[in-house]
Amino acid sequence: MQQEKLLLIPGPTPVHPRIINSLSLPTVSHVSPILVKELKESLANLKKIVFCERGESFIIAGSGTLAMEMALLNTVERGESLLVLSQGYFGERMAQIAQSFDLNFDIIESPWGNAVRPDELEKKLSERKYATVVSTHVDTATGACAPVREYAEILKIQKSLFIIDGVCATGGIEERMDDWGVDVILTAAQKCFGTPPGLAILVFSEKAMDKRRGMKAIPAYYSDLLNWLPIMKDPSKYFSTPCVNEIRAFWESTKIVLEEGMEKRFLRHALIAQAIRAALEKLGFSFFTQKPYLADTLSVINYPEGVEDISFRKGLNENGVVVAGGLRELAGKVFRMGHMGNLSVSQVYFALEAVEKTLHSMGYKFELGSGLKAASAILEEKNK
Ligand SMILES: *Cc1c(COP(=O)(O)O)cnc(C)c1O
Repeated sequence: MQQEKLLLIPGPTPVHPRIINSLSLPTVSHVSPILVKELKESLANLKKIVFCERGESFIIAGSGTLAMEMALLNTVERGESLLVLSQGYFGERMAQIAQSFDLNFDIIESPWGNAVRPDELEKKLSERKYATVVSTHVDTATGACAPVREYAEILKIQKSLFIIDGVCATGGIEERMDDWGVDVILTAAQKCFGTPPGLAILVFSEKAMDKRRGMKAIPAYYSDLLNWLPIMKDPSKYFSTPCVNEIRAFWESTKIVLEEGMEKRFLRHALIAQAIRAALEKLGFSFFTQKPYLADTLSVINYPEGVEDISFRKGLNENGVVVAGGLRELAGKVFRMGHMGNLSVSQVYFALEAVEKTLHSMGYKFELGSGLKAASAILEEKNK
C-alpha cells in the first residue's frame, strides 16, 4: 500500500478524516431530500464563512478557474470597463480569461512578491471609472497577500463592483463581504476548505446579483448563474447533475470550519504561518515574498546557499512531506509550502522535523532541533 504523505503543496491540502470518510457515503439521487438538505446547508454555511447575510451562494462542479470565469462572465458586459489588480500568476490568468471573452480591461501589475498598493489603485481610479474591479487575495505563485480590505474601502467611493479571487484565502484568512463591501468572492474546494478538488464556489452579493439580472444574454450556458440560481434555491430541481459525493464532503468541511469558529480559524492560520516562518528562518531559509505581504496560507521560500531544490524536495518527500517547486522564473530557486485548511499543530511539527531531517542528511550545517524550537516558542504561546 502506498504510504500517505503530508500534502503541503498550495492545494489540494490535507483532507481531514471526517471529510474523506464522507466521500464514501452513498451516491444518493441528486434531487433526493438528503442532497437537498446537504447542499442547502452548505450554501448557507458558505455565506456565514464569508460574512454575507444576503446575496446568493453557488456550489458547482468544476475548479477554481471555472469560478474565476463565472465571476467575470456574470458581472462584466462586453464594452464595460474592468480593472484587474494582479500580484502574479493568478491575476494574469484573470486577465487571460477577460481576453478570451473579449472583455475590455486594464491591468495594474505589481512585481512578484509584492501586491498592488492602494495608492496605485486610487491613482488609476482618478484617471478612469471602472464598473468592476477584480483582485486576487493570495497569489499562490508568489505568496503575496493583497490588501483587499483597503481596496474595498477605496472602491466604495466609486461604487464599482469588487470581485475577490479567494481560492487561496477564503476560509483561512478574514474576508467580510458585507462589512467591507465585497460583491463577489470565488474559491474552490481544495484549498482552505481542505476538501478534495472538484468544486467551483461563488458568493454573490445582492448588488452583484442585480448586476447579473440586468445584463442581457451572456456568452455562457453552464457558467450562467441564472441557470443555477433556481437549483441553489431549491436543489430538488434539475439543471445539470451536481457531483453528489463531492457536495456531501464539502458539507462536512463547512461544518468543520464553523465548528472551529471563524475567529479561531483565522488565528490558527496566522499562528501556524508565524511558527513555520520562524522555524525556516532559524534554519537559514528566507522568504521570496516582501514582508508586508506575507500570506498566512502559504509561503514561498528561498533556499540557503548549498541547498539544491530537487534533492531537497526529493529528500523531504522521502521523509513524508510533499511541497511544491517554484513557478516560472522561480523554478529551482524556491519551494512553496501550503499551510492552510485543516492543518493541525502536530502536522506542523511533523513537517518541520522532516525539513530538519532532510537538511541534516544533505550535509547542511545547522543546529539540530533549532527550527522546531523556534516554532514551538510561537505555538506554545498560543496555549497560555
Ligand atoms: C489555485 C488557485 C486558482 C486556480 O484554481 P484551480 O482549481 O486550480 O483552477 C485560482 N486562483 C488562485 C488564487 C489559486 O490559488
